[in-house]
Amino acid sequence: MIQADYVIVGSGLTGAVIARLLADAGRDVLVLERRSHVGGNVHDHLHPSGVRIHTYGPHYFRTSSDRIWEFATRFAEFYRYEARVLTQVDGKLEHWPVTDSYIRSVAGPKWKPEFTGKPTNLEEAALALMPRIVYEKFVKEYNEKQWGKPARALSADLCKRFDIRTTDDPRLKPDSRYQGIPTHGYANWMSAMLQGISVIRNYDYLLHRKEVHARSWLIYTGPIDEFFSFDMGRLAYRGQQRYHNYYPDRGFVQAVGQVNNPQHAGGPHIRTLEWKHMMPPQSRSTVRGTVLTREVPCTPIDPGAYEYPFPDNFNQQLYSAYRARADWLERVLICGRLGEYRYYDMDQAIARAMALAARLLKASPKRTRTPEQLQALKISMTF
Ligand SMILES: Cc1cc2nc3c(=O)[nH]c(=O)nc-3n(C[C@H](O)[C@H](O)[C@H](O)COP(=O)(O)OP(=O)(O)OC[C@H]3O[C@@H](n4cnc5c(N)ncnc54)[C@H](O)[C@@H]3O)c2cc1C
Repeated sequence: MIQADYVIVGSGLTGAVIARLLADAGRDVLVLERRSHVGGNVHDHLHPSGVRIHTYGPHYFRTSSDRIWEFATRFAEFYRYEARVLTQVDGKLEHWPVTDSYIRSVAGPKWKPEFTGKPTNLEEAALALMPRIVYEKFVKEYNEKQWGKPARALSADLCKRFDIRTTDDPRLKPDSRYQGIPTHGYANWMSAMLQGISVIRNYDYLLHRKEVHARSWLIYTGPIDEFFSFDMGRLAYRGQQRYHNYYPDRGFVQAVGQVNNPQHAGGPHIRTLEWKHMMPPQSRSTVRGTVLTREVPCTPIDPGAYEYPFPDNFNQQLYSAYRARADWLERVLICGRLGEYRYYDMDQAIARAMALAARLLKASPKRTRTPEQLQALKISMTF
């Protein structure tokens, strides 16, 4: 039997932040992770050339919160990285988000939204925000590729993430005060966050439920539908297949780290990443060649490949049905991007985990193990 006061399933940001804060408060914590590495989707790895690849897609950390930035930088140094994204439109590279001068040049200075009223789908919501020509070139087909459905069948809420510029600032998120990437990579950052906490890797909690005992709380950060054996149906997700190409004799291929490919005519991929741009300048100079990765959206079956929750009413209702059951469980907390079926940026995932950890600490009195008990636990967990 594997036991601890707090058993945390998943070592992604949600699980790791909760584990860290509980351990800091002197609680007995054990983390179970089914992958061979900690860190969840924030993980990165080194290509043999020395290029650091964000294994599950590009991750740009940003926040305007002092508290979150202080927490993040407690475990690693970050170097300033402000993402700039270009987008391939009609054979040319334009900025994304679309700049004010581009909008004026294609639609004139006095353009008016074509759609007024309450939008019921992505197309209507987009036409309430931008000229049709911009929607058609930059937004429509990108989203059709991303979600695998026509734009008129997609949720109007997707437009909440668009930024319609009134300036020509080329930065992806100019408003975030703190922006960066850990100097020595996300994997090292996440390992440092879990330093001193017992972690069992390659261990799927759902395959061993009966062998795990959480004396105070079970905190589960995996997919909520999988927790209930998908017995009310599967929640839909989109993921990406990643195709890597190494160019040993090229310094750089693209002008920036991310180039979007929004049009169907450009092929099935939605973006191409050149990771070397995301590395600190001093590390780039030691790398030979460069690695480019094309991301092609897909509908994954394997829960390990789930990336974006599908934004529609059907899936929200199914999630609510699972959530209602989860809320009845005693001393079980199902949370995180997969447990709450919700996209969280890293800073939001940290903020949410901080709030949950505070609630857990309030809910359960402190109990610690003796050094002998801790030693016995470590020995039994060495495999
Ligand atoms: C493609 C992509 C790009 C992104 N880019 C950005 C970005 O640029 N900036 C940003 O701020 N955020 C970005 N994010 C969001 C970021 O990845 C999330 O905020 C973060 O991963 C949330 O962490 P989590 O712990 O909730 O989930 P996860 O990272 O998914 O962690 C869950 C962990 O639980 C483990 N697990 C699941 N089930 C079990 C089980 N049964 N037993 C044991 N372990 C289990 C999983 O293996 C995983 O390690 C991006 C997300 C995606 C999908």
